[in-house]
Amino acid sequence: MKLADRVNRIKPSPTFAAAAKAAAMRAKGIEVISFAQGEPDFDTPDNIKEAAYKAIREGITKYTPASGFPDLKDAIIHKFKRDNGLTYDRSQVFASAGAKLIIYNLAQALFQAGDEVIVPAPYWVSYTDIVLLMDATPVVVQTSEDRGFKMTVDQLKAAVTPRTKAILINSPCNPTGATYTAQELRDLVDVVLPQKILIIADDIYEKFVYDGTVFTSIASLGKEVQDQTVVVNGVSKTYSMTGWRIGYAAGPADLMAAMDKVQTQNVSNPVSFCQKAAVEALAGPQDSVQKMVAEFDRRRKYIVQRLNAMPGIKCAMPKGAFYVFPNITGLFGKKWGDKVISNSGDVTDLILEEAKVAVVAGSGFGNDHYIRFSYATSMANIEKGMDRIQEALKKLR
Ligand code: PMP
Ligand code: GLU
Repeated sequence: MKLADRVNRIKPSPTFAAAAKAAAMRAKGIEVISFAQGEPDFDTPDNIKEAAYKAIREGITKYTPASGFPDLKDAIIHKFKRDNGLTYDRSQVFASAGAKLIIYNLAQALFQAGDEVIVPAPYWVSYTDIVLLMDATPVVVQTSEDRGFKMTVDQLKAAVTPRTKAILINSPCNPTGATYTAQELRDLVDVVLPQKILIIADDIYEKFVYDGTVFTSIASLGKEVQDQTVVVNGVSKTYSMTGWRIGYAAGPADLMAAMDKVQTQNVSNPVSFCQKAAVEALAGPQDSVQKMVAEFDRRRKYIVQRLNAMPGIKCAMPKGAFYVFPNITGLFGKKWGDKVISNSGDVTDLILEEAKVAVVAGSGFGNDHYIRFSYATSMANIEKGMDRIQEALKKLR
């Protein structure tokens, strides 16, 4: 079959590919421990589920307005006010079937051939491919671990060209956990604001910060910044609702209207009763979030300590999100059977085959010297997974 060029430009989402590999092994009866997908292992809180049951019982099972019911928009507005001190009206907020589709529809509405989009690496696996699907060009800026995986002002200045249409900031970052301070964000804003470059702020991990780290939404740095920013967020992570597929955005009304138009031509609307559940998630009690974050914090410390005790692995303590991104270059050059380990894919294969543990290669995140673990899995799994990897590494010569 002769497929469209755009399909050949992208890869399948590496997080989904890794999860699928683990699932296929499980189907064969192999007990795999997966650190692959960034998905909280907690159940969706009961009050949220009840809101969905109620909506179904009430017959809210039909098409809805494309960008969400008015009460969902009001809950999104309420969330931005409560959590970020940001004021929006209904024309400035938009809901979709997950934050991934938010970013996709945003890209559909904004990017075309010739446009450049600045993406600091390591980046979440889908950003660059979504830009490529629009025929636009991702301009990847490689950050370094000694700078906490944060893009510097000089790096940003060097990446900006007359074609720069937007910059993607994901803080806390998937996969590194890097969390920009308000001052660091302000410094980046000073570069892009005068150039009228749109800021896309993916705040989806805003609640997952540790060690007293304070989250700042870039849009909250002033009216002028807010006007030039689209904030992307969703209920997947904060409320353990990955399967419900509700994401949302806030930004300039003309852009939200364009995304609405695009959405009428793809998913039509986010699922009706999931929207009602999202209203409860965003506007209802918030105590489940802190409980989840406290547990993640405990796991974060444990996994970092275990990884650092393994020869050839060096793992920084992340400040946010629920991933660790250890450097595995210390394993390069070692022999595994006949094979010489030389990239993140080799390490991922080794760990999957020898330890029956699934992780994601750093190459998908734009840096082949690292691998990613999601620690959004039980402490028992983490302990067992670490024991197995420690054993597997003994196979290296
Ligand atoms: N942005 C980032 C940085 C993510 O890690 C994810 C996780 N999948 C998403 C967006 C998309 O989330 P969802 O589509 O589940 O709302
Ligand atoms: N964001 C999560 C991850 O990075 C979920 C999977 C995905 O959407 O890519 O693993």
